[in-house]
Amino acid sequence: MSTVSATGGRTPRIAVIGGGLAGITASIALAESGADVTLLEARPRLGGATCSFSRDGLTVDTSQHILLGCCSAYRGLLDKLGMAGHAPMQDRFDVTVLAPGADGQPRKARLRRNALPGPLHMLAALGRYPFLSLTERMSVSRPALAMRRVNPADPATDRQRFGDWLAAHGQTERSRRLLWDLFSVSSLNIAGDDASLALAAVVVKTGLLGKNNAADIGVPALPLGELHGDAAATLLGKLGARVSLGAKVSAIEPQDGGGYLVRLADEDLTVDAVVLAVPHEKAAPLMPPGALPGQTVAAWAGLGASPIVNVHVIYDRPVMDLPFVAAVDSPVQWVFDRTRISGLSASKHGASKHGRPGHQYLAISLSAADQYADTPVARLQELFVPALAELFPAARDANVAEFFVTRERRATFRQAPGTAALRPPAATQRPGLVLAGAWTDTGWPDTMEGAVRSGLAAAVELRRTVLKPTSPIGERQ
Ligand SMILES: Cc1cc2nc3c(=O)[nH]c(=O)nc-3n(C[C@H](O)[C@H](O)[C@H](O)COP(=O)(O)OP(=O)(O)OC[C@H]3O[C@@H](n4cnc5c(N)ncnc54)[C@H](O)[C@@H]3O)c2cc1C
Repeated sequence: MSTVSATGGRTPRIAVIGGGLAGITASIALAESGADVTLLEARPRLGGATCSFSRDGLTVDTSQHILLGCCSAYRGLLDKLGMAGHAPMQDRFDVTVLAPGADGQPRKARLRRNALPGPLHMLAALGRYPFLSLTERMSVSRPALAMRRVNPADPATDRQRFGDWLAAHGQTERSRRLLWDLFSVSSLNIAGDDASLALAAVVVKTGLLGKNNAADIGVPALPLGELHGDAAATLLGKLGARVSLGAKVSAIEPQDGGGYLVRLADEDLTVDAVVLAVPHEKAAPLMPPGALPGQTVAAWAGLGASPIVNVHVIYDRPVMDLPFVAAVDSPVQWVFDRTRISGLSASKHGASKHGRPGHQYLAISLSAADQYADTPVARLQELFVPALAELFPAARDANVAEFFVTRERRATFRQAPGTAALRPPAATQRPGLVLAGAWTDTGWPDTMEGAVRSGLAAAVELRRTVLKPTSPIGERQ
């Protein structure tokens, strides 16, 4: 692939600030386009919000992540990283939903799609969903049909609350809590009723009403640090890009003759172009004056933040026999078996290499977790150990060997009505300065897919303005 640079024949130097999925994606695409790329990441590792750490010999992801079949750009990145095989997809959307039962036995539903084309693929499963009355089940088709006419790109759509819209289409409080929340709370990280209708429409139209495999779930089989950060560092090295870790950028200063001075603690960097791929609250103070009109940058504060808390419980024996389940009528939302991925699973000789033979490691993922963000660990243990026992009878006789909590207080922006207008596109008014990040105007929720799409959009913009491409960057890289 050849490029004609806008830098007088010299290879354009580009600084990508922020080593999350957006920055990683932009760096790869730009390095592949022939740019001289330096990726600057403040932390000692790549991967941003998708990261892992070691704890007593276990590899712990700060938060369980999943992907969906419709995440084409993110899956394209995994392909590029050589990691697609480590994020296996379900053969069909298949979610077991548990609820505590009055007789002490959990109630159980299985939402498994069939092979019919979307949106018919979910009808049979929803028709049998036992947590709703027959009338409630029959009314689910009303919003499903009406959603086809909702335009997520219409600003009026983004001014509405998803809950109000569902209620106006016949969805009772129970239908919203026991069915719709299953999909919207985890994908939008905000209490179901409070989500922007525009973002909820993207989820519902793409995931539930689109192709029949669009909502099939993929669960990483490797710790996120390996799946993204380590693999990206390797690929970027092969592409000739520099990765600078522990490199916190303190300012981006436009230069008189064009280009930018990127200020770092140790040494400054002079570049032709910059991709700023950091969260909105970190991006705002780095934006040079005049990069965007008027109060645009100040308004980003309105995007806010929404927390995700993960509760990690290690039992002295197996208590859950599925890779993951969802829960309703319970403080538990989604539970994942992390025994193997954390390195806890038994070796072929029957003994755990970490001295916890036969133990099972579960992680409860709690989205829209405002009420738990500052709750003491002991209180969370009092709440969630009995809640798990209500869902998994085997847990009642099991001992909790370890209990710990990870909290991401600014996990995503707060995906409420009115946020679409605050999300900026990649291009700014300053030549060679572009924005990326899952919070920018991708049209997608703040997800891995959104982050990758934003990185691609940033790279496309710089290829158009700085690199003058001879071949386009595709959505699947
Ligand atoms: C707990 C949790 C659970 C989630 N679950 C899912 C899920 O299941 N599925 C899904 O699709 N998405 C999920 N998401 C969302 C997804 O992780 C994010 O949307 C995505 O990873 C954001 O990527 P990003 O590159 O835009 O930003 P980030 O990952 O935030 O990366 C930004 C990077 O910029 C760096 N940085 C900041 N300031 C500077 C500076 N001054 N100089 C240099 N570097 C700087 C930061 O250190 C960071 O590494 C989850 C997020 C969280 C937090």
